[in-house]
Amino acid sequence: MKLLRLGQPGAEKPAVLVGNDTYIDVSDAVHDFDEAFFASGRIAELASIAAGREPKPIGDTRIGSPIARPHQILCIGLNYRDHAAETGQEVPEEPILFTKSPNTIQGPNDDVLVPRKSVKMDWEVELGVVIGKRCSYLADEAEALDAIAGYTVVNDLSEREWQIERKGQWSKGKSAPTFNPAGPWLVTPDELTDVLALDMFLDVGDTRRQTGSTSTMVFSPAFIVHYLSQFLTLEPGDLINTGTPPGVGMGLKPPVFLHGGEVLTLGIAGLGVQRQRVVG
Ligand code: ZN
Repeated sequence: MKLLRLGQPGAEKPAVLVGNDTYIDVSDAVHDFDEAFFASGRIAELASIAAGREPKPIGDTRIGSPIARPHQILCIGLNYRDHAAETGQEVPEEPILFTKSPNTIQGPNDDVLVPRKSVKMDWEVELGVVIGKRCSYLADEAEALDAIAGYTVVNDLSEREWQIERKGQWSKGKSAPTFNPAGPWLVTPDELTDVLALDMFLDVGDTRRQTGSTSTMVFSPAFIVHYLSQFLTLEPGDLINTGTPPGVGMGLKPPVFLHGGEVLTLGIAGLGVQRQRVVG
C-alpha cells in the first residue's frame, strides 16, 4: 500500500494511492497519518476502508509529506561505504546519529529555500524509514523490522559551512526551513521485494549527480531501528533519514553547491520521484 497526503500545507488530507496517479480519499475514516494513527495500528485497515471507492486523479493537487510533522527526525551520517570514501572519512564502526528539526519536513515537490547567508547548500537523496510503533530497547532486528511502518524518499538538504566549518553538532547545518522534503508516498514494507536493493538517483538540472543503491548501506534499516532503540524511544510516525550514497556537492572536485533557479529531481526505485525548485 502507498499512503499520501494531498492538499495545501497544513490542510493535507490522508489518501491511498491507486496505480501511479490516482488516489482514494480516506479522510472521513482517518484523521491524518500522524503519531496517533500509527500508534492505533489502523494502517492495516486502510485497504478495507479504500475498497469499493472510486479513485480520483491527483492532477495538479499538491502532494504533502506522506506523514504529518513527526515527533523527531533522526539522521544517520556516513552510512554508505562509497559516500564515506568521497568525504575522506572512515566507514563508522557504529551509526553516527544526528538530529534534524521536525519542522523541516515538507512536500516532495515544494520549493526549497537557500537559507539566509548560506553559501554551501547541498543535496542528499536518502531512504527514509517511518516508525510504526513505540520502540524502546527492542530485542533484535526482527522486532525492529516489525516496527517499521514503511519507507519514503527524503532529500536531506544540508548547509556544509554550517554543518562542518562552523563546528559542533551537525544539526546546525541540517535544520534550515524547507530542508527535509519527504515523499511522494509512504510505501509499506510488503510492497518492496528487498529494501536493500533499491536504486537511487539525484539530478541537479540535467546533470546526474548521485547514483547509488541501498545495497551499499553500512547499517540496514533493521539494524538502525534496533540500535537507536537502545539509546532513545522512537515514537510512531518518527522519521529516520538513513544516509546518502555518493555524489553530494561537497564531494565533487571542485565542490558544487546549489543556487536559486536550479531544479532537483531525485528518487528511489519503487518509492517515487521528487522534484524541487531551488529558490534564493
Ligand atoms: Zn544525510
